[in-house]
Amino acid sequence: MGRVYNFSAGPAVLPEEVLKEAAEEMLDYNGSGMSVMEMSHRSKPFQEIIGAAEADIRELMNIPDDYKVLFIQGGASTQFAMIPMNLMKNGTADYIITGQFAKKAYNEAKKYGKVNILASSEDKTFSYIPDCQDLPVSEDADYVYICENNTIYGTKFKKLPDTKGKPLVADVSSCFLSEPVDVTKYGLLYGGVQKNIGPAGMAIVIIRKDLIRGEVYPGTPTMLMYKTHADAGSLYNTPPSYSIYICGKVFRWLKKRGGLSAMKEYNEKKAKILYDYLDESRLFRSGVNKEDRSLMNVTFVTGDASLDEKFVKEAKEAGLLSLKGHRSVGGMRASIYNAMPIEGVKALAAFMKKFEEENL
Ligand SMILES: *Cc1c(COP(=O)(O)O)cnc(C)c1O
Repeated sequence: MGRVYNFSAGPAVLPEEVLKEAAEEMLDYNGSGMSVMEMSHRSKPFQEIIGAAEADIRELMNIPDDYKVLFIQGGASTQFAMIPMNLMKNGTADYIITGQFAKKAYNEAKKYGKVNILASSEDKTFSYIPDCQDLPVSEDADYVYICENNTIYGTKFKKLPDTKGKPLVADVSSCFLSEPVDVTKYGLLYGGVQKNIGPAGMAIVIIRKDLIRGEVYPGTPTMLMYKTHADAGSLYNTPPSYSIYICGKVFRWLKKRGGLSAMKEYNEKKAKILYDYLDESRLFRSGVNKEDRSLMNVTFVTGDASLDEKFVKEAKEAGLLSLKGHRSVGGMRASIYNAMPIEGVKALAAFMKKFEEENL
C-alpha cells in the first residue's frame, strides 16, 4: 500500500516532503555520520536544530521578544497541570468549557485552586461556542482558560473572549499554525504538536515572560516549572530531540509555503469544499453551529449509526482513512490539517457524493 489520505485527528498527517527529508537524513544527518536521534542534545548540530526551530516559529507566528518559546515533554495534557501550578498566584482561575479537553483541563486545575466555569456549551453537546464578550470574569482570576479549537466536536473560537484584562490561556493543539494569530492577545498559548506540527509527546508553550515565576504551587516538580525550561532554553534535561527536529522541518516547510496567511487561505479553501457539500447534502449534515465551524476538524453525521459505520468502512477501502468520529460522539470527523493536500479533501467530497447517491 502506498500513501493514503489520512484524516486522523492526531497523531496526524505530516508533509510528505518533510518525511522524505527525514528519511534521507536518518542514517547520516548533514555529514555527522549519525541520526539526530543518536546525537547529544548538547552537540553543535543539535544546538543549530533547536535554535533554528525556535527562530522559525518566532518568525512564522511573529512572536514578540517578551514571550518565551518552550519545547516541553508530555503532550498537551501535562499542560493541564502545569498551567494552574505555575500561573495561579491568587489560587483562582476561570475556565470556559467548550469540549472534553477544556473539561479535562478544568478538572485538573481544581486540584490546585478555586476554579470557576465562566461559560459552557455542554448543554448542546459542545456544538457551539458560547458568547464570550461580557463574561463575569472573577476579580482575582489569575487567568481565563479556553480550548481554542475543539478537536472532537469541530468548533473554534472565531473571536477570543473578553477576559477583562486577565491573561488569556489557550490550548491551540488542533489549530496551531493553521492561520495567523496575534500572540500579544494571549498570556500563554500552547499545543501538543501531534495534531498539526510533528511527532507525539511534546508541547510547544508560548508564554509571556512576566508569567514565568519561581514561586509556584508548593511541591511542583522541577520539570513542571516553566522557569526551569525557560532558564535552560528547553535544554534543562534531554529534550524530545527528534520531535524538535521534525517540528523544525515543518516550520521550514510552512515558511516555504508562504507562512500562516497562505496556510489560512489554503485551509479555508479546503474546509469550504466539505462544508459547502454538507450544507447541500441530503444524507450528511454538520451538527455544528455554522459560525463556529473549525477549519481543521470537520465533523458530520448521517443520523443513522449503522450507515455511519458503513461509510467509514467503505471510505477506508477507497483509501480515505481514519474518518471515524471520536468515540464519545460517534459519526464522522475529517481532520484536514495543514499537511492534508486539497486533493485529499476533493477525493473525500467526491466519495461522499457517491456514497450519498448509493445510499439515499
Ligand atoms: C489532542 C488534544 C489534547 C491532548 O493532547 P495529548 O498530547 O494527547 O495530551 C489536548 N487538547 C486538544 C485541543 C487536543 O486536540
